[in-house]
Amino acid sequence: MERESLEMDVVFVGAGPANLSGALHLSRLIAEHNAAIGSGAAQGKSLGEVQIAVIEKGAAVGAHILSGAVMDPRGLAELIPDFKEQGAPLESEVKEDFFYYLTQSRAVRSPINPPPLNNHGYYIVSLNRLTAWLGEKCEEAGVNIFPEFPGADLLYDESDRVLGVRTGDKGIDKEGKPKPNFEPGVDLLAKVTVLGEGVRGSLTKKLIRRLGLDEGREPQVYSLGVKELWELPDDRYPAGRVTHTLGFPSDQWTYGGGWIYGMQNRVLNIGYVTGLDYRDPLIDPHAEFQKFKTHPFIAKLLAGGKMIRYGAKAIAAGGMNAMPRMYSDGVLIVGDSAGFLNAARLKGIHSAIKSGMLAAETIFEALLAEDYSSAKLQTFEARVKESWITPELRRYRNFHAGFRHGRWLGMANAGLQYLTGGRAWGIFDRDHQEPGHEAMEKLSPHERNGNVAARYRDLRFDKKLTFDKVTDVYHAAVGHDEDQPAHLHVLDTNICATRCTEEYGNPCQRFCPAAVYEMVESGSQVSVPIDGNPTVREGANARPRRQLQINFSNCVHCKTCDIMDPYQIINWVTPEGGGGPDYVGM
Ligand SMILES: Cc1cc2nc3c(=O)[nH]c(=O)nc-3n(C[C@H](O)[C@H](O)[C@H](O)COP(=O)(O)OP(=O)(O)OC[C@H]3O[C@@H](n4cnc5c(N)ncnc54)[C@H](O)[C@@H]3O)c2cc1C
Repeated sequence: MERESLEMDVVFVGAGPANLSGALHLSRLIAEHNAAIGSGAAQGKSLGEVQIAVIEKGAAVGAHILSGAVMDPRGLAELIPDFKEQGAPLESEVKEDFFYYLTQSRAVRSPINPPPLNNHGYYIVSLNRLTAWLGEKCEEAGVNIFPEFPGADLLYDESDRVLGVRTGDKGIDKEGKPKPNFEPGVDLLAKVTVLGEGVRGSLTKKLIRRLGLDEGREPQVYSLGVKELWELPDDRYPAGRVTHTLGFPSDQWTYGGGWIYGMQNRVLNIGYVTGLDYRDPLIDPHAEFQKFKTHPFIAKLLAGGKMIRYGAKAIAAGGMNAMPRMYSDGVLIVGDSAGFLNAARLKGIHSAIKSGMLAAETIFEALLAEDYSSAKLQTFEARVKESWITPELRRYRNFHAGFRHGRWLGMANAGLQYLTGGRAWGIFDRDHQEPGHEAMEKLSPHERNGNVAARYRDLRFDKKLTFDKVTDVYHAAVGHDEDQPAHLHVLDTNICATRCTEEYGNPCQRFCPAAVYEMVESGSQVSVPIDGNPTVREGANARPRRQLQINFSNCVHCKTCDIMDPYQIINWVTPEGGGGPDYVGM
């Protein structure tokens, strides 16, 4: 197969806030440098025309961006100091901050807001819109943006130096054969490739494994945020109001909490985070969110409203100790791909932007020195250490690990950390995180015999307040050409109907928030209830034949399956370019 090769100078993989900020900052540094040389204000040689490309798997910049979001403007203000005057799409300045503890039926307002959740001076944004706006700024600055171009593989030389990225082929049918519209992917060659794929990046994961970039670091841990936008009939929840909740419906061993942000035009942004290190294999993060909405305090808020959008995405929650080495020959890792998010504050936009800018400064120096080696690019980590990112992350470095001891000790740890700058008196900071899927416990013999937990027994999907996954997915506007190979690779499907059914009751059916995974009885299309009712076995012949069906066209690219599968046999790879959700306004 003949592939086209395109010579770029710098390729950014993923058009999220981290990479767009990096591309924009780099293009400006180069333009300023060349202008200074041209005018004689500086000595040295001009860099000439530097080709910068950003590739994005979504159909447009922002299409796959899902966030909360309350944005700390620190990063954006450094990138574009007059961002307000330039028309950055901001929903509202934060005007009110509330924090509630939810019992089964009551909402108890905390007299003080936990300091990490003080949002005074911040902005509620739709990150989808803000990212699209940053994309426009990049194009104005001469950056080449290629939507519908998924990075499918990294290109290496014989000494593992990254040479660029190969984009995905187009027009392959579900049997893996070329269709009439077949177009092979392109090899984009670059002096430096920047991975800003967001959480659990598919290329980042492979690179980290291949080069051992996580050696000596703690494993990354994750949460899953499930979210809806609602149109309210009146002004009961004003734009600029921020509420966070703890408690119902999570049990005390499951890390979780809710958010409610008021946007413009009576739109309410509501979501729930579930830690992807839960113990009970019968937990379903989408059902946790639906249950959250049935709490009287929330149900009252949503009464008479209409759900208009849905989405879900994982969050990297491991903090500073779980960040991999972020450089190697010809490559840098930025934003959520490197784990820059501060889980205690549920904020990563500001640090993603800053990490992109620091990567740009590192690359600019490398271009001047014509040196793209690991030795040169490692100054990226030094820059991160000297920036405001590091003290912020250091202070909360053991935040998530504390929740391994349950909600209350986790909260106590969070408080101590805040007071001690992250040390927590040596109690919790000796903790080491384990990969989240390892926390999942096996079904008890009782549950294996079909006596599943009552966790969601009362949950009904009335399609007014609560929605099943398929209805929700419709509101994520997901589209994938069905005549293509599934982009969810299950490496050993034999495990699904045997060990996984017996040991965990096929938890993929529950942890996926988009109904991608279904255990069906041979050939038929039987949905399994959300409690996952594992098969009763009274002798080998009595067991109905079950097999895994992958409804990959539902996939919202949240990456949960790649993270949470207890056998780690699900591998998420990029589908054909342009496929996936369309998160307008999210
Ligand atoms: C539910 C939720 C709530 C959040 N709430 C907040 C909040 O209130 N405040 C806050 O500050 N932060 C919040 N965050 C975190 C914030 O959204 C992230 O920290 C931030 O978006 C990270 O930016 P990024 O550029 O690293 O990655 P992303 O924003 O994830 O962007 C990555 C981009 O890369 C693309 N991509 C991925 N792989 C490839 C590939 N192989 N080829 C081509 N393109 C690819 C993706 O499609 C995407 O467009 C929240 C996150 C979630 C999930």
